[in-house]
Amino acid sequence: MDTKFIYCNLCKHLTKHQLKSSHKSKEVELDVDEDHNIFPIDYIFYTHNFWICMGCELATLEVQYRGLDDDDEEPINTKFFPTRAIKIRDSRDFSSIPKEINQTYKEVISCFNERNYILAAIGIRAILEAICRNLNITDKESFGLKGKLTILKERNLFSNSIINALNEFKFLGDDAAHKLISPNFSEVVLALSVLDDLLEHQYEAKYNLENSADRLHNFRAKNKNQ
Ligand SMILES: [Zn+2]
Repeated sequence: MDTKFIYCNLCKHLTKHQLKSSHKSKEVELDVDEDHNIFPIDYIFYTHNFWICMGCELATLEVQYRGLDDDDEEPINTKFFPTRAIKIRDSRDFSSIPKEINQTYKEVISCFNERNYILAAIGIRAILEAICRNLNITDKESFGLKGKLTILKERNLFSNSIINALNEFKFLGDDAAHKLISPNFSEVVLALSVLDDLLEHQYEAKYNLENSADRLHNFRAKNKNQ
């Protein structure tokens, strides 16, 4: 029985996996000469391995591949499907944030996990714009995000330190969208932490507070009537 240690996305650590099946194939790259003869010019050799985690039984596909000129017998490239979740961030399950913000938030986390930091930064900026609109700061009041953030500050809707962080969201998003400058891993991790807390502060905490306040009010009203 072939086994090896692979990072398991469900167990969230290296676990022993059992090889269930393996398949070898090759891809041929063809060319055509001036007499219309077709001939091979390169090969890529693939091995597809189907692994099962011996702990949780989650399946993983491993693809190993090497080119014709690679004289080393060992495969030189390996990819796992789904992508190994090392460093992957889970998206929070928000229950009371606007639907379009929740959808964009999940896409941002997905981009981050796929290491698409430019798209993640653009998405974070888009969420910030949506929060402004949700606070009734419309394009009529200020078309640009910079102006919207100034209005947020003037109306004391957030503290200065939060406004500073939101300005960083804007700069990260602007650099990504207009100059294709990718933020680095740490910048995105920090921005996502702020984003999580912002959504919690702006929507979840308020929703939970209103719910518990209503419960207290209704409970006391019911007791008074008895
Ligand atoms: Zn597992």
